Amino acid sequence: MNEEEMFRRARERLVERLKSLGYIRSDRVAEAMLKVPRHEFVPEHLRDRAYVDSPLPIGKGQTISAPHMVAMMTELLDPRPGHKVLEVGAGSGYHAAVVAELVKPDGKVITVERIPELAEFARENLRRTGYDKWVEVVVGDGTLGYPEEAPYDRILVTAGAPDVPRSLFEQLKPGGRMVIPVGDRHLQELWLIRKTEDGRMVRERHGGCAFVPLIGKEGFRE
Ligand code: SAM
Repeated sequence: MNEEEMFRRARERLVERLKSLGYIRSDRVAEAMLKVPRHEFVPEHLRDRAYVDSPLPIGKGQTISAPHMVAMMTELLDPRPGHKVLEVGAGSGYHAAVVAELVKPDGKVITVERIPELAEFARENLRRTGYDKWVEVVVGDGTLGYPEEAPYDRILVTAGAPDVPRSLFEQLKPGGRMVIPVGDRHLQELWLIRKTEDGRMVRERHGGCAFVPLIGKEGFRE
């Protein structure tokens, strides 16, 4: 069996496990996670751990989130074909690629990363896997969103925030959804935010999680 075949089988086993544990609930998310090669988004020396359900270091003190967290957040976000999605925290580019699978062919993902070296890492990974067709990586403070492309159908925040950044809520379309971990620098709760048609915020809580902090003007201090 060649290496790609081994990775594909490991990915199938992981997706089956995430389904049986209830993290993956829809065929759409299952198919997206079956398609995106996570081993192409982790540092070379960690490739053989790409299909273990755990976060992995990607350099600069940051991590690629655990697959069950990617599954849970993507189910809550519910991206649809044609959607324009803003992600805050590109990291490796993996989660953006999973979302791209769900919004293509007409949708797009803009992902903002504050650390330039990681933005370049994400760009390279997305280019190598062909997802650069639907994903644009921008360097900047994502707590301020990305007004140039606003408003967004969906906003995904992949770092822990002290609260929902006002700029992000403003850049969400009425009827849109945002998934964001909210709490302190180390432990948060996963929130699903809905913006009603008349612009109100409705919050749903979805259990504890532990993300690296969201650092920026409307996030934590460095
Ligand atoms: N979604 C990523 C993936 O699929 O690999 C994992 C993201 S990692 C858990 C969180 C990322 O958020 C880090 O790369 C960190 O540098 C970034 N980050 C933290 N604060 C940020 C901010 N204000 N704007 C943009 N990125 C930020």
